[in-house]
Amino acid sequence: MDVLFVIPPSPEHKLIIRMIDCSYETKANYLWQPNDFIIMTSLLNESDNAFFVDGTADQLDPVAFREQLRKSRCDILVFALSSVCWESDYRFFQDAGKMFHDVPIFVLGDIFLEDSYRQQILMECDGIIYNPFQLDFASMLLMPGNRKGASLPGICTRPGQRFFESGTQPIRITAGTPRHELFMKRRYRFPFARHFRFTTVTTMWGCPFSCTYCTDSNFPPLVRSHGDVIRELAYIRDLGIKELFIADKAFGFFSSEAVPILEEMTKSFRFAWSCYFHPQVYNARILEMMHAAGCHTIIVGIDSANVPALRRYKRVVDPIKIDAIIAHANRLGMSICADFILGLEHETARDVKRTIDYALKLPIDYASFNVAAPLPGSDIRKKAIHSGKMSFGVEGFDTSGRGGIIGSDSISVDVIKRLRREAFIKFYLRPSYLLRRLRKVASTEHLAVQLIEMLSMLKKIR
Ligand code: SF4
Repeated sequence: MDVLFVIPPSPEHKLIIRMIDCSYETKANYLWQPNDFIIMTSLLNESDNAFFVDGTADQLDPVAFREQLRKSRCDILVFALSSVCWESDYRFFQDAGKMFHDVPIFVLGDIFLEDSYRQQILMECDGIIYNPFQLDFASMLLMPGNRKGASLPGICTRPGQRFFESGTQPIRITAGTPRHELFMKRRYRFPFARHFRFTTVTTMWGCPFSCTYCTDSNFPPLVRSHGDVIRELAYIRDLGIKELFIADKAFGFFSSEAVPILEEMTKSFRFAWSCYFHPQVYNARILEMMHAAGCHTIIVGIDSANVPALRRYKRVVDPIKIDAIIAHANRLGMSICADFILGLEHETARDVKRTIDYALKLPIDYASFNVAAPLPGSDIRKKAIHSGKMSFGVEGFDTSGRGGIIGSDSISVDVIKRLRREAFIKFYLRPSYLLRRLRKVASTEHLAVQLIEMLSMLKKIR
């Protein structure tokens, strides 16, 4: 069986990441690997072939993109689309659909968290992938024709089919090893990596938390066994890859799997790596183990200076834990990226300024200032549609704030744009900050990665 995975070109060659749970334009020069596709290749049989065309990473123009598709073998087409550039992606999808009209076609993308887009796309494809770890490619191959609408694991095949839920109960997953070698394009970059060449590993997909402003709250956690992950790490080491992004939304939440992985990483591997680390998962032992296993950077969702106020969005975090992580990671010499959200519904401009001032005072290495956005599947979007601020077909919103900002009752679009820009400039152009980063540079390659990201970020802010 030949499976073709496709990402279309982005308008103006923007660096747009397309995933099942979210999509956005990157804030600097980086571009994540297509992690959902990487995961899917772990479900192929050895005799299956996987082909991959990425019009965004390879900056293909429409003619070159079409030509690459035309040259590819394909028994099943899997096509990624984004809410950020929906109109453009949809045109490329329709074109590909005509080229491969006689094979089963499946799509993925954050936009399909919205029922109206699910209904529309299901008229033109065989299903929407919402769980990349549960696919059965042999059944997918039989989809076209009279099996239209049949049930398939991990795939929405009928309008009205219910599949989203949230919860902390893990779903245990058994999968093989992904074909990392297929996704080693030079254009993929991870902003906190110490090496240009990296790959992405997932030990838990989905999220056990339920923050209502985040689309991941729709996906319950799928957890891999530590044995499967350790086999994958050995495979990656044998490919000569030294840097990892562990893409779990909250690494370490299921410690019965995370601890053996960390022990083995310390004993048998020498990876440099980064991951998301949720404050509620923090305890001193796990952070020490992560550090010993090669973790150099943690990404921590702080979100606001007023953490208790986030309870209204079902985000329950103990501020003491945030202080403890930051102090501990600094003692260990790890780098910290803190995520912040500006302009949540309850916030005034003064609240946003408080969050920016708070970020400036923290001993952290990177600050990611995101704009509260009506992401598909989020509560913010439901309210925006209800109030008439959004309508079907009008997309282009993301947390980077460049595509579009919806504002709130108390903060206008212009004010939020200005505050976000000021936040980046104030944070990244402090001499004390630049000295801190220089002290943490691990090699000339690391310095090059960092300089390219910094210059690109400043250019985008301008
Ligand atoms: S913990 Fe992070 S990924 Fe999970 S729902 Fe909350 S904001 Fe989203």
